[in-house]
Amino acid sequence: MTPFTYARATSLSSAIAAAGTQGVSLLAGGTELLNWMKEGIAAPRRVVDINALEELDYIELTATELRLGALARMSAVAEHPDVCREFPALSIALEKSASQQIRNMASMGGNLMQRTRCPYFRAEVQLPCNKRAPGSGCAAREGDDRSHAVLGGSAHCIATHPSDAAVALAIFDAIVRVQGARETRDIPIDDFYVLPGETPHVENALAPGEVIVQIAMPRSAMTPKSHYIKLRERTSYEFALVSVAASVETEGKVIRATRVALGGVAPKPWRLRSAETELVGLALDDEAAMYRALEPDFEAARPGRHNGFKIELARRTAIRALQVAGGLA
Ligand code: SF4
Repeated sequence: MTPFTYARATSLSSAIAAAGTQGVSLLAGGTELLNWMKEGIAAPRRVVDINALEELDYIELTATELRLGALARMSAVAEHPDVCREFPALSIALEKSASQQIRNMASMGGNLMQRTRCPYFRAEVQLPCNKRAPGSGCAAREGDDRSHAVLGGSAHCIATHPSDAAVALAIFDAIVRVQGARETRDIPIDDFYVLPGETPHVENALAPGEVIVQIAMPRSAMTPKSHYIKLRERTSYEFALVSVAASVETEGKVIRATRVALGGVAPKPWRLRSAETELVGLALDDEAAMYRALEPDFEAARPGRHNGFKIELARRTAIRALQVAGGLA
C-alpha cells in the first residue's frame, strides 16, 4: 500500500474542497476504499475522513418521500421500520449485501460508489483491463465472463455493477443529490451511472469535487408493494449473478402499474422499461403472458461465452419478484 496521510473533515465545505483536490480520497465506511488501496486500484496521498459530518447521517420519511443522508449506514437503513414498511425492496437488497459487519460500517453514499467485482479489474497482478488501465484491453472478453454483463456492455468493457441497493433505488426512481463547490445537483439514479462505451473508467456522472450528500425517493402506492430477489453462487456474502427489484400496483391479480430493474446483468441497474408497459393488464398468475411481456427488453442482450444463462434466469426471476411484490407468492 502506498503511504498516505490522514485527516478528518470538520465541515461539508472542507470535505468538498478535499474531494476537489488531486490525490485526495474521502473516507466514509472505508469498506471499499481500503480494498482499492490494498489492491492497488487507488493510491491516494491523503485520506480525508468524513464520518464526523453528522448532518449527512439521517433517515427521514416525509409525506412525499424517503430521504437518506449519504452517511446513513446500510444496516441502519435496512432495519429502519419506515424503510421496511414503505420501501421493502430496498431493505431486502441491503440485507442481502455483504456481511452484517460490513453493513454496519458501509454508508449509503459509499454503496453507490462501489466498483465492479470483475476479477481481472481486482487482480493482484495487472491484467489487461480498460477500466483500471485505459487502453490496456479487456481480459474478460477472452477469459471467464460468467459473472459479466449481457446488456449494456461494449467492446471495451463488459463489467457489471455490484450494488444491490442501486437496483432497488432504480425502481423507486431515486434522486442522487450531489454537492460541489459551486452548485448542488439532483441526478436521477438512471443518469447517475454511465455505460462503458469507449471510456469504461468513467462510471458515473459525478464531476471532480462533487460529493454525494443525499439519496431521495418519492413515495407512491407501488413502493410498499415491492420485493428484491438476489441469486448468487452461494447464499451469503456473495455478489449477484442475477438480481431483480420489482414493485407493482394491482387490482385483484391484474397488474395496473409496475417497475422492474435487474442487477448482475449490466454495467448499471437495468430497468425493463418495455416490460413495464407490456405487463400492465396481465394477471400475476399468467406466467406465460408475463414471460412474453419480458421478451423485448432482452432483444438487445449480447451474451458472451459463459453467461448466456443469465437471460433465462433474469426473466424467470423477474416473474417471481413481481408475484411476491404483488402478494401472490
Ligand atoms: Fe476490465 Fe471491464 Fe474487461 Fe473487467 S470487463 S477486464 S473491468 S475492461
